[in-house]
Amino acid sequence: MNKGKVRTRFEPSPTGFMHIGNLRTALYEYLIAKSNDGMFILRIEDTDKGRYVCGAVDIIYNTLKTIGLKHDEGPDIGGAYGPYIQSERKSIYLDYAQRLIKEDKAYYCFCTKERLASLNKNGEDFSGYDRHCRDLPKEEVQSLLEKNVPYVIRQKIPMAGETTFVDEVYGEITVQNKEIEDQILIKADLYPTYNFANVVDDHLMDITHVVRGSEYLSSTPKYNLLYEAFGWAKPIYVHLPLIMGKNEDGSTSKLSKRHGSVSFEDLVNDGYLPEAIINYVALLGWCPKENREIYSLEDLQKAFSIDRIVKSPSIFDYDKLTWFNGEYIRNKPAEEFVALAKPYLQEALDPKIFDFSKIASILHQRVTKLAQIPEMVDFFPQLPEYSIDLFINKKSKATLENAPVILKQAIVSLSNIKAWDHDSIHDSLIDLANTLGLKNGTVMWPVRIAASGKAVTPGGAIEILEILGKEETLRRLNFALEKFENHKLGLISSMATSYE
Ligand code: GLU
Repeated sequence: MNKGKVRTRFEPSPTGFMHIGNLRTALYEYLIAKSNDGMFILRIEDTDKGRYVCGAVDIIYNTLKTIGLKHDEGPDIGGAYGPYIQSERKSIYLDYAQRLIKEDKAYYCFCTKERLASLNKNGEDFSGYDRHCRDLPKEEVQSLLEKNVPYVIRQKIPMAGETTFVDEVYGEITVQNKEIEDQILIKADLYPTYNFANVVDDHLMDITHVVRGSEYLSSTPKYNLLYEAFGWAKPIYVHLPLIMGKNEDGSTSKLSKRHGSVSFEDLVNDGYLPEAIINYVALLGWCPKENREIYSLEDLQKAFSIDRIVKSPSIFDYDKLTWFNGEYIRNKPAEEFVALAKPYLQEALDPKIFDFSKIASILHQRVTKLAQIPEMVDFFPQLPEYSIDLFINKKSKATLENAPVILKQAIVSLSNIKAWDHDSIHDSLIDLANTLGLKNGTVMWPVRIAASGKAVTPGGAIEILEILGKEETLRRLNFALEKFENHKLGLISSMATSYE
Protein backbone atom coordinates (compact mmCIF):
# COMPACT_ATOMS: atom_id res chain seq x y z
CA MET A 1 0.00 0.00 0.00
CA ASN A 2 1.02 3.55 -0.73
CA LYS A 3 1.62 4.38 2.95
CA GLY A 4 0.70 7.78 4.18
CA LYS A 5 -0.95 9.14 1.07
CA VAL A 6 -4.72 9.25 1.21
CA ARG A 7 -6.28 8.09 -2.06
CA THR A 8 -10.02 8.09 -2.67
CA ARG A 9 -11.89 7.23 -5.81
CA PHE A 10 -15.19 8.13 -7.34
CA GLU A 11 -16.60 5.29 -9.36
CA PRO A 12 -19.79 6.34 -11.13
CA SER A 13 -21.59 4.21 -13.66
CA PRO A 14 -22.22 6.04 -16.92
CA THR A 15 -25.99 6.18 -16.55
CA GLY A 16 -26.48 9.49 -18.32
CA PHE A 17 -27.15 11.64 -15.28
CA MET A 18 -25.57 12.47 -11.94
CA HIS A 19 -27.88 11.54 -9.10
CA ILE A 20 -27.62 13.79 -6.10
CA GLY A 21 -26.52 10.81 -3.97
CA ASN A 22 -23.62 10.14 -6.34
CA LEU A 23 -22.72 13.79 -6.29
CA ARG A 24 -22.54 13.74 -2.50
CA THR A 25 -20.35 10.62 -2.62
CA ALA A 26 -18.00 12.35 -5.07
CA LEU A 27 -17.90 15.44 -2.89
CA TYR A 28 -17.09 13.55 0.31
CA GLU A 29 -14.43 11.49 -1.49
CA TYR A 30 -12.90 14.67 -2.79
CA LEU A 31 -13.03 16.33 0.62
CA ILE A 32 -11.54 13.34 2.42
CA ALA A 33 -8.68 13.29 -0.08
CA LYS A 34 -8.08 17.01 -0.20
CA SER A 35 -8.41 17.66 3.52
CA ASN A 36 -5.58 15.13 3.91
CA ASP A 37 -3.46 16.41 1.07
CA GLY A 38 -4.35 13.26 -0.83
CA MET A 39 -5.42 12.21 -4.32
CA PHE A 40 -8.92 11.99 -5.76
CA ILE A 41 -9.28 9.46 -8.55
CA LEU A 42 -12.01 9.05 -11.14
CA ARG A 43 -12.77 5.53 -12.29
CA ILE A 44 -15.65 4.58 -14.55
CA GLU A 45 -17.73 1.54 -13.69
CA ASP A 46 -18.96 0.43 -17.09
CA THR A 47 -18.77 -3.34 -16.94
CA ASP A 48 -22.53 -3.72 -17.17
CA LYS A 49 -22.73 -3.42 -20.92
CA GLY A 50 -26.52 -3.62 -20.91
CA ARG A 51 -26.67 -0.30 -19.08
CA TYR A 52 -24.28 1.60 -21.31
CA VAL A 53 -25.50 5.08 -22.23
CA CYS A 54 -23.79 6.94 -25.03
CA GLY A 55 -22.26 10.30 -24.00
CA ALA A 56 -22.72 9.52 -20.32
CA VAL A 57 -19.03 9.73 -19.47
CA ASP A 58 -18.92 13.29 -20.76
CA ILE A 59 -21.73 14.16 -18.39
CA ILE A 60 -19.58 12.88 -15.53
CA TYR A 61 -16.57 14.96 -16.64
CA ASN A 62 -18.70 18.05 -17.11
CA THR A 63 -20.41 17.73 -13.76
CA LEU A 64 -17.16 17.31 -11.87
CA LYS A 65 -15.71 20.26 -13.73
CA THR A 66 -18.74 22.48 -13.11
CA ILE A 67 -18.65 21.89 -9.39
CA GLY A 68 -14.88 22.17 -9.16
CA LEU A 69 -14.06 18.60 -8.08
CA LYS A 70 -10.82 18.28 -9.96
CA HIS A 71 -9.62 14.70 -10.12
CA ASP A 72 -5.92 13.89 -10.01
CA GLU A 73 -6.13 10.72 -12.09
CA GLY A 74 -8.79 9.49 -14.46
CA PRO A 75 -9.59 8.28 -17.97
CA ASP A 76 -9.29 11.74 -19.51
CA ILE A 77 -6.04 12.77 -17.80
CA GLY A 78 -4.38 9.40 -17.23
CA GLY A 79 -2.20 8.51 -14.26
CA ALA A 80 0.14 5.81 -13.03
CA TYR A 81 -2.65 3.33 -12.22
CA GLY A 82 -4.57 3.28 -15.52
CA PRO A 83 -6.58 2.37 -17.40
CA TYR A 84 -9.34 4.02 -15.37
CA ILE A 85 -12.26 2.64 -17.35
CA GLN A 86 -13.20 -0.78 -16.07
CA SER A 87 -14.19 -2.24 -19.42
CA GLU A 88 -10.60 -1.60 -20.53
CA ARG A 89 -9.35 -3.67 -17.59
CA LYS A 90 -11.35 -6.79 -18.49
CA SER A 91 -8.34 -9.11 -18.77
CA ILE A 92 -6.94 -7.97 -15.41
CA TYR A 93 -10.04 -9.18 -13.56
CA LEU A 94 -10.09 -12.46 -15.41
CA ASP A 95 -6.47 -13.12 -14.43
CA TYR A 96 -7.22 -12.44 -10.78
CA ALA A 97 -10.33 -14.64 -10.82
CA GLN A 98 -8.32 -17.48 -12.33
CA ARG A 99 -5.71 -17.04 -9.65
CA LEU A 100 -8.45 -17.62 -7.05
CA ILE A 101 -9.62 -20.73 -8.94
CA LYS A 102 -6.11 -22.11 -8.85
CA GLU A 103 -6.00 -21.54 -5.12
CA ASP A 104 -9.41 -23.20 -4.70
CA LYS A 105 -10.98 -19.93 -3.54
CA ALA A 106 -13.25 -19.61 -6.56
CA TYR A 107 -14.89 -21.99 -9.04
CA TYR A 108 -16.53 -22.24 -12.43
CA CYS A 109 -20.29 -22.40 -12.26
CA PHE A 110 -22.15 -23.83 -15.26
CA CYS A 111 -25.69 -23.55 -13.90
CA THR A 112 -28.22 -22.41 -16.44
CA LYS A 113 -30.50 -19.41 -15.98
CA GLU A 114 -33.46 -21.78 -15.74
CA ARG A 115 -31.88 -23.76 -12.93
CA LEU A 116 -31.03 -20.62 -11.01
CA ALA A 117 -34.53 -19.26 -11.46
CA SER A 118 -36.04 -22.45 -10.06
CA LEU A 119 -33.76 -22.25 -7.00
CA ASN A 120 -35.09 -19.05 -5.60
CA LYS A 121 -38.62 -20.40 -5.62
CA ASN A 122 -37.81 -23.20 -3.19
CA GLY A 123 -38.42 -20.98 -0.20
CA GLU A 124 -35.51 -22.40 1.76
CA ASP A 125 -33.73 -20.47 4.51
CA PHE A 126 -30.88 -19.51 2.29
CA SER A 127 -32.25 -17.74 -0.74
CA GLY A 128 -28.98 -17.43 -2.66
CA TYR A 129 -27.11 -19.81 -4.92
CA ASP A 130 -27.13 -23.40 -3.63
CA ARG A 131 -23.39 -23.97 -4.36
CA HIS A 132 -24.25 -26.71 -6.86
CA CYS A 133 -21.00 -26.32 -8.86
CA ARG A 134 -18.77 -25.57 -5.87
CA ASP A 135 -17.28 -29.01 -5.68
CA LEU A 136 -17.63 -30.42 -9.20
CA PRO A 137 -14.91 -32.95 -9.97
CA LYS A 138 -11.94 -31.42 -11.82
CA GLU A 139 -12.43 -33.68 -14.89
CA GLU A 140 -16.06 -32.63 -15.23
CA VAL A 141 -15.09 -28.97 -15.09
CA GLN A 142 -12.41 -29.56 -17.69
CA SER A 143 -14.75 -31.35 -20.03
CA LEU A 144 -17.46 -28.67 -19.72
CA LEU A 145 -14.89 -25.98 -20.45
CA GLU A 146 -13.70 -27.90 -23.50
CA LYS A 147 -17.29 -28.13 -24.73
CA ASN A 148 -17.54 -24.36 -24.40
CA VAL A 149 -20.45 -24.57 -21.99
CA PRO A 150 -21.05 -21.01 -20.78
CA TYR A 151 -19.94 -20.34 -17.22
CA VAL A 152 -19.54 -17.71 -14.55
CA ILE A 153 -16.86 -17.66 -11.88
CA ARG A 154 -18.01 -17.67 -8.28
CA GLN A 155 -16.19 -16.99 -5.05
CA LYS A 156 -15.95 -19.84 -2.54
CA ILE A 157 -17.22 -18.16 0.60
CA PRO A 158 -16.14 -20.01 3.78
CA MET A 159 -19.08 -22.01 5.10
CA ALA A 160 -18.24 -21.41 8.74
CA GLY A 161 -17.03 -18.56 10.90
CA GLU A 162 -17.94 -14.92 10.70
CA THR A 163 -16.70 -11.76 9.04
CA THR A 164 -16.35 -8.57 11.01
CA PHE A 165 -15.42 -5.14 9.84
CA VAL A 166 -15.50 -1.62 11.14
CA ASP A 167 -17.11 1.13 9.15
CA GLU A 168 -16.08 4.68 10.02
CA VAL A 169 -19.71 5.79 10.14
CA TYR A 170 -21.70 2.69 11.10
CA GLY A 171 -19.21 1.10 13.47
CA GLU A 172 -18.55 -2.62 13.84
CA ILE A 173 -20.60 -5.01 11.72
CA THR A 174 -20.46 -8.80 11.92
CA VAL A 175 -22.01 -11.27 9.50
CA GLN A 176 -22.11 -15.09 9.65
CA ASN A 177 -20.26 -16.45 6.63
CA LYS A 178 -22.85 -19.14 6.02
CA GLU A 179 -25.33 -16.38 5.22
CA ILE A 180 -23.18 -15.01 2.45
CA GLU A 181 -23.79 -16.21 -1.08
CA ASP A 182 -21.01 -17.55 -3.30
CA GLN A 183 -21.03 -14.36 -5.29
CA ILE A 184 -20.30 -14.12 -8.99
CA LEU A 185 -16.94 -12.55 -9.76
CA ILE A 186 -16.89 -12.97 -13.53
CA LYS A 187 -20.08 -12.97 -15.60
CA ALA A 188 -20.87 -15.12 -18.63
CA ASP A 189 -19.70 -12.31 -20.95
CA LEU A 190 -16.37 -12.48 -19.08
CA TYR A 191 -16.80 -8.99 -17.69
CA PRO A 192 -16.40 -8.75 -13.92
CA THR A 193 -19.27 -7.98 -11.58
CA TYR A 194 -19.14 -4.66 -9.77
CA ASN A 195 -18.51 -6.62 -6.56
CA PHE A 196 -15.31 -8.10 -7.95
CA ALA A 197 -14.02 -5.20 -10.02
CA ASN A 198 -14.25 -2.65 -7.23
CA VAL A 199 -12.12 -4.78 -4.91
CA VAL A 200 -9.46 -5.59 -7.51
CA ASP A 201 -9.24 -1.97 -8.60
CA ASP A 202 -9.25 -0.49 -5.12
CA HIS A 203 -6.33 -2.75 -4.30
CA LEU A 204 -4.39 -2.15 -7.52
CA MET A 205 -4.97 1.59 -7.35
CA ASP A 206 -3.86 1.85 -3.70
CA ILE A 207 -7.19 3.28 -2.58
CA THR A 208 -7.06 4.01 1.15
CA HIS A 209 -10.66 5.11 1.79
CA VAL A 210 -13.65 3.52 0.09
CA VAL A 211 -16.55 5.96 0.32
CA ARG A 212 -19.97 4.96 -0.99
CA GLY A 213 -23.66 4.79 -0.25
CA SER A 214 -24.89 2.70 2.67
CA GLU A 215 -26.65 0.37 0.21
CA TYR A 216 -23.23 -1.28 -0.18
CA LEU A 217 -22.82 -1.89 3.53
CA SER A 218 -24.39 -5.35 3.36
CA SER A 219 -22.02 -6.41 0.57
CA THR A 220 -18.90 -5.27 2.36
CA PRO A 221 -18.32 -8.61 4.16
CA LYS A 222 -18.05 -10.20 0.70
CA TYR A 223 -15.47 -7.63 -0.32
CA ASN A 224 -13.51 -8.28 2.84
CA LEU A 225 -13.53 -12.00 2.15
CA LEU A 226 -12.05 -11.22 -1.25
CA TYR A 227 -9.32 -9.08 0.29
CA GLU A 228 -8.60 -11.97 2.62
CA ALA A 229 -8.61 -14.54 -0.18
CA PHE A 230 -5.99 -12.51 -2.01
CA GLY A 231 -4.10 -11.60 1.15
CA TRP A 232 -4.51 -7.88 0.50
CA ALA A 233 -4.79 -5.07 3.06
CA LYS A 234 -8.32 -3.75 3.44
CA PRO A 235 -9.21 -0.12 2.88
CA ILE A 236 -10.97 2.13 5.38
CA TYR A 237 -14.71 2.00 4.77
CA VAL A 238 -16.89 5.10 4.91
CA HIS A 239 -20.52 4.36 4.09
CA LEU A 240 -22.84 7.31 3.71
CA PRO A 241 -26.43 7.58 4.96
CA LEU A 242 -29.33 7.38 2.56
CA ILE A 243 -30.83 10.53 1.12
CA MET A 244 -34.58 10.55 1.57
CA GLY A 245 -37.39 12.61 0.08
CA LYS A 246 -40.48 13.89 1.86
CA ASN A 247 -43.74 12.36 0.62
CA GLU A 248 -47.01 14.23 0.45
CA ASP A 249 -48.42 12.33 3.40
CA GLY A 250 -45.49 13.39 5.58
CA SER A 251 -43.65 10.06 5.43
CA THR A 252 -40.22 9.72 3.83
CA SER A 253 -38.77 7.36 1.25
CA LYS A 254 -35.56 7.11 -0.75
CA LEU A 255 -35.17 10.27 -2.83
CA SER A 256 -36.63 9.70 -6.27
CA LYS A 257 -38.15 11.61 -9.16
CA ARG A 258 -41.55 11.83 -7.55
CA HIS A 259 -40.03 14.13 -4.92
CA GLY A 260 -38.64 16.52 -7.53
CA SER A 261 -35.43 16.84 -9.52
CA VAL A 262 -32.86 14.30 -8.36
CA SER A 263 -29.99 14.83 -10.74
CA PHE A 264 -27.44 17.59 -10.77
CA GLU A 265 -28.34 18.52 -14.35
CA ASP A 266 -32.05 18.83 -13.57
CA LEU A 267 -31.37 20.95 -10.51
CA VAL A 268 -29.17 23.25 -12.59
CA ASN A 269 -31.92 23.46 -15.21
CA ASP A 270 -34.34 24.39 -12.45
CA GLY A 271 -32.12 27.37 -11.81
CA TYR A 272 -30.03 26.23 -8.84
CA LEU A 273 -26.42 27.36 -8.85
CA PRO A 274 -23.75 24.66 -8.64
CA GLU A 275 -22.19 26.36 -5.58
CA ALA A 276 -25.52 26.31 -3.77
CA ILE A 277 -26.13 22.67 -4.67
CA ILE A 278 -22.70 21.67 -3.42
CA ASN A 279 -23.09 23.63 -0.21
CA TYR A 280 -26.46 22.08 0.51
CA VAL A 281 -25.42 18.57 -0.48
CA ALA A 282 -22.33 18.79 1.76
CA LEU A 283 -24.63 19.22 4.75
CA LEU A 284 -26.77 16.21 3.82
CA GLY A 285 -25.02 13.73 6.06
CA TRP A 286 -22.22 15.84 7.46
CA CYS A 287 -22.57 18.09 10.46
CA PRO A 288 -19.97 20.85 10.80
CA LYS A 289 -18.39 21.64 14.15
CA GLU A 290 -19.35 25.28 14.06
CA ASN A 291 -22.88 26.57 13.84
CA ARG A 292 -22.61 27.73 10.28
CA GLU A 293 -24.31 26.92 6.98
CA ILE A 294 -22.60 28.73 4.14
CA TYR A 295 -19.51 26.87 2.92
CA SER A 296 -17.61 27.26 -0.30
CA LEU A 297 -15.78 24.23 -1.64
CA GLU A 298 -12.56 25.65 -0.18
CA ASP A 299 -14.15 26.18 3.23
CA LEU A 300 -15.45 22.62 3.13
CA GLN A 301 -11.98 21.34 2.40
CA LYS A 302 -10.75 22.99 5.58
CA ALA A 303 -13.68 22.01 7.79
CA PHE A 304 -14.51 18.48 6.62
CA SER A 305 -13.80 15.48 8.80
CA ILE A 306 -15.05 11.88 8.61
CA ASP A 307 -15.97 11.76 12.27
CA ARG A 308 -18.76 14.27 11.72
CA ILE A 309 -20.56 12.22 9.07
CA VAL A 310 -23.88 11.18 10.53
CA LYS A 311 -25.47 7.80 10.03
CA SER A 312 -29.12 8.74 10.21
CA PRO A 313 -30.74 9.27 6.79
CA SER A 314 -30.90 12.87 5.65
CA ILE A 315 -33.93 14.46 4.06
CA PHE A 316 -33.53 16.40 0.86
CA ASP A 317 -35.45 19.59 1.48
CA TYR A 318 -36.04 21.57 -1.72
CA ASP A 319 -37.08 24.68 0.24
CA LYS A 320 -33.81 24.64 2.11
CA LEU A 321 -31.90 24.29 -1.15
CA THR A 322 -33.86 27.26 -2.50
CA TRP A 323 -32.83 29.26 0.56
CA PHE A 324 -29.16 28.43 -0.08
CA ASN A 325 -29.60 29.35 -3.71
CA GLY A 326 -31.09 32.74 -2.83
CA GLU A 327 -28.11 33.43 -0.57
CA TYR A 328 -25.65 32.58 -3.34
CA ILE A 329 -27.54 34.58 -5.95
CA ARG A 330 -27.67 37.69 -3.76
CA ASN A 331 -23.94 37.48 -3.13
CA LYS A 332 -23.06 37.41 -6.82
CA PRO A 333 -21.56 40.58 -8.31
CA ALA A 334 -24.11 42.43 -10.50
CA GLU A 335 -22.42 41.58 -13.83
CA GLU A 336 -22.25 37.93 -12.97
CA PHE A 337 -25.93 37.91 -12.10
CA VAL A 338 -26.81 39.54 -15.43
CA ALA A 339 -24.93 36.77 -17.23
CA LEU A 340 -26.68 34.09 -15.20
CA ALA A 341 -30.10 35.63 -15.69
CA LYS A 342 -29.66 36.23 -19.43
CA PRO A 343 -30.82 32.85 -20.77
CA TYR A 344 -33.89 33.00 -18.55
CA LEU A 345 -34.65 36.61 -19.48
CA GLN A 346 -34.39 35.64 -23.11
CA GLU A 347 -37.18 33.14 -22.66
CA ALA A 348 -39.58 35.98 -21.90
CA LEU A 349 -38.09 39.18 -23.32
CA ASP A 350 -36.68 40.49 -26.55
CA PRO A 351 -33.18 41.83 -25.84
CA LYS A 352 -33.61 44.41 -28.62
CA ILE A 353 -36.48 45.98 -26.72
CA PHE A 354 -35.56 45.51 -23.07
CA ASP A 355 -32.45 46.51 -21.16
CA PHE A 356 -31.40 43.24 -19.52
CA SER A 357 -29.00 44.83 -17.02
CA LYS A 358 -31.72 47.12 -15.78
CA ILE A 359 -34.23 44.28 -15.41
CA ALA A 360 -31.59 42.07 -13.80
CA SER A 361 -30.90 44.79 -11.26
CA ILE A 362 -34.47 44.64 -9.98
CA LEU A 363 -34.44 40.85 -9.94
CA HIS A 364 -31.10 40.35 -8.24
CA GLN A 365 -32.16 40.61 -4.60
CA ARG A 366 -35.49 38.89 -5.16
CA VAL A 367 -34.79 35.74 -7.15
CA THR A 368 -34.22 32.50 -5.25
CA LYS A 369 -34.26 30.23 -8.32
CA LEU A 370 -33.20 31.33 -11.78
CA ALA A 371 -36.02 29.38 -13.41
CA GLN A 372 -38.50 31.76 -11.74
CA ILE A 373 -37.25 34.62 -13.90
CA PRO A 374 -39.38 34.19 -17.07
CA GLU A 375 -42.56 34.18 -15.03
CA MET A 376 -41.40 37.12 -12.90
CA VAL A 377 -40.86 39.35 -15.93
CA ASP A 378 -43.60 38.12 -18.23
CA PHE A 379 -45.69 41.27 -17.72
CA PHE A 380 -43.08 43.51 -19.35
CA PRO A 381 -43.74 42.54 -22.97
CA GLN A 382 -47.44 42.00 -22.45
CA LEU A 383 -49.86 43.21 -19.84
CA PRO A 384 -51.65 40.14 -18.50
CA GLU A 385 -55.38 39.89 -17.96
CA TYR A 386 -56.05 40.97 -14.40
CA SER A 387 -58.90 41.45 -12.01
CA ILE A 388 -59.86 44.91 -10.86
CA ASP A 389 -59.76 43.61 -7.29
CA LEU A 390 -55.96 43.76 -7.44
CA PHE A 391 -56.32 47.50 -6.86
CA ILE A 392 -57.55 46.84 -3.33
CA ASN A 393 -54.81 46.72 -0.72
CA LYS A 394 -55.44 47.31 2.93
CA LYS A 395 -51.89 48.04 3.98
CA SER A 396 -51.42 50.67 1.27
CA LYS A 397 -54.94 52.01 1.89
CA ALA A 398 -55.69 51.43 -1.78
CA THR A 399 -59.35 51.03 -2.69
CA LEU A 400 -61.53 50.72 -5.76
CA GLU A 401 -62.72 54.25 -5.01
CA ASN A 402 -59.40 56.06 -4.72
CA ALA A 403 -57.51 54.07 -7.41
CA PRO A 404 -59.16 55.68 -10.48
CA VAL A 405 -58.75 59.16 -8.99
CA ILE A 406 -55.07 58.54 -8.33
CA LEU A 407 -54.51 56.98 -11.73
CA LYS A 408 -56.10 59.93 -13.52
CA GLN A 409 -53.79 62.33 -11.68
CA ALA A 410 -50.78 60.10 -12.19
CA ILE A 411 -51.37 60.09 -15.94
CA VAL A 412 -51.32 63.91 -15.95
CA SER A 413 -48.17 64.13 -13.81
CA LEU A 414 -46.27 61.40 -15.67
CA SER A 415 -47.23 62.89 -19.07
CA ASN A 416 -45.36 66.05 -18.09
CA ILE A 417 -42.07 64.25 -17.58
CA LYS A 418 -39.52 65.27 -20.22
CA ALA A 419 -36.61 62.97 -19.45
CA TRP A 420 -38.04 59.59 -18.41
CA ASP A 421 -35.77 58.20 -15.72
CA HIS A 422 -35.86 56.85 -12.18
CA ASP A 423 -35.53 60.24 -10.48
CA SER A 424 -38.09 62.07 -12.56
CA ILE A 425 -40.67 59.28 -12.13
CA HIS A 426 -39.94 59.19 -8.42
CA ASP A 427 -40.35 62.96 -8.00
CA SER A 428 -43.48 63.04 -10.08
CA LEU A 429 -45.27 60.35 -8.05
CA ILE A 430 -44.08 61.61 -4.65
CA ASP A 431 -45.20 65.15 -5.52
CA LEU A 432 -48.54 63.72 -6.49
CA ALA A 433 -48.88 61.92 -3.15
CA ASN A 434 -48.08 65.20 -1.35
CA THR A 435 -50.55 67.17 -3.41
CA LEU A 436 -53.31 64.65 -2.81
CA GLY A 437 -52.41 64.40 0.87
CA LEU A 438 -51.94 60.63 0.56
CA LYS A 439 -49.23 58.26 1.70
CA ASN A 440 -46.67 57.38 -0.96
CA GLY A 441 -47.78 53.74 -0.85
CA THR A 442 -51.38 54.69 -1.59
CA VAL A 443 -50.27 56.28 -4.86
CA MET A 444 -47.67 53.65 -5.77
CA TRP A 445 -50.02 50.69 -5.37
CA PRO A 446 -52.56 51.43 -8.13
CA VAL A 447 -49.81 52.71 -10.43
CA ARG A 448 -47.83 49.48 -10.05
CA ILE A 449 -50.90 47.29 -10.51
CA ALA A 450 -51.97 49.20 -13.61
CA ALA A 451 -48.45 48.96 -15.06
CA SER A 452 -47.98 45.25 -14.37
CA GLY A 453 -51.36 43.60 -13.89
CA LYS A 454 -49.79 41.55 -11.09
CA ALA A 455 -49.97 41.69 -7.31
CA VAL A 456 -46.35 40.62 -6.90
CA THR A 457 -43.67 42.10 -9.11
CA PRO A 458 -39.91 42.31 -8.96
CA GLY A 459 -39.31 45.96 -8.14
CA GLY A 460 -41.71 48.72 -7.23
CA ALA A 461 -43.77 51.10 -9.35
CA ILE A 462 -40.91 53.47 -10.15
CA GLU A 463 -38.55 50.74 -11.36
CA ILE A 464 -41.24 49.10 -13.44
CA LEU A 465 -42.34 52.35 -15.05
CA GLU A 466 -38.78 53.24 -15.92
CA ILE A 467 -38.32 49.92 -17.73
CA LEU A 468 -41.67 50.09 -19.53
CA GLY A 469 -40.97 53.59 -20.88
CA LYS A 470 -43.27 56.57 -20.94
CA GLU A 471 -45.51 55.62 -23.82
CA GLU A 472 -46.25 52.08 -22.65
CA THR A 473 -46.75 53.24 -19.06
CA LEU A 474 -49.33 55.80 -20.07
CA ARG A 475 -51.06 53.28 -22.30
CA ARG A 476 -51.37 50.80 -19.41
CA LEU A 477 -52.55 53.44 -16.93
CA ASN A 478 -55.22 54.61 -19.39
CA PHE A 479 -56.23 51.01 -19.95
CA ALA A 480 -56.72 50.65 -16.19
CA LEU A 481 -58.96 53.70 -16.16
CA GLU A 482 -61.06 52.16 -18.92
CA LYS A 483 -61.31 49.05 -16.80
CA PHE A 484 -62.77 51.17 -14.02
CA GLU A 485 -65.20 52.79 -16.43
CA ASN A 486 -66.40 49.41 -17.64
CA HIS A 487 -66.62 48.20 -14.10
CA LYS A 488 -68.82 51.16 -13.17
CA LEU A 489 -71.05 50.56 -16.22
CA GLY A 490 -71.23 46.91 -15.31
CA LEU A 491 -72.33 47.78 -11.81
CA ILE A 492 -74.98 50.20 -13.08
CA SER A 493 -76.33 47.69 -15.56
CA SER A 494 -76.43 44.94 -12.95
CA MET A 495 -78.24 47.31 -10.58
CA ALA A 496 -80.64 48.12 -13.40
CA THR A 497 -81.29 44.46 -13.99
CA SER A 498 -81.90 43.81 -10.34
CA TYR A 499 -84.54 46.60 -10.26
CA GLU A 500 -86.45 45.14 -13.15
N1 GLU B 1 -20.93 2.59 -9.44
C1 GLU B 1 -21.23 2.46 -8.05
C2 GLU B 1 -22.18 3.53 -7.65
O1 GLU B 1 -22.23 4.53 -8.33
C3 GLU B 1 -19.95 2.58 -7.28
C4 GLU B 1 -20.02 2.25 -5.86
C5 GLU B 1 -18.64 2.41 -5.24
O2 GLU B 1 -18.22 3.56 -5.09
O3 GLU B 1 -17.98 1.42 -4.95
O4 GLU B 1 -22.93 3.40 -6.71
